[in-house]
Amino acid sequence: MATTSMPQNRRPSFERMEATLLACPKCKRAVKVRKRLLLVLPNGDKYLYVCPDCGSTCGETIETPSPAGIR
Ligand SMILES: [Zn+2]
Repeated sequence: MATTSMPQNRRPSFERMEATLLACPKCKRAVKVRKRLLLVLPNGDKYLYVCPDCGSTCGETIETPSPAGIR
């Protein structure tokens, strides 16, 4: 049986999952947190990073809306 090693340098570009790893204070390990919209601020949206296992808040972020046209 011949073992054909496939080159793995081609990755699908649609793989754009937001898998953020953060340390959970309760689980004491890095978890793939879920992003939850907390509130909408005038300067951006505030998100919470929640542990999928215990539901603890592992962090937060404010995402400012990128103005269209300006990079
Ligand atoms: Zn946890």
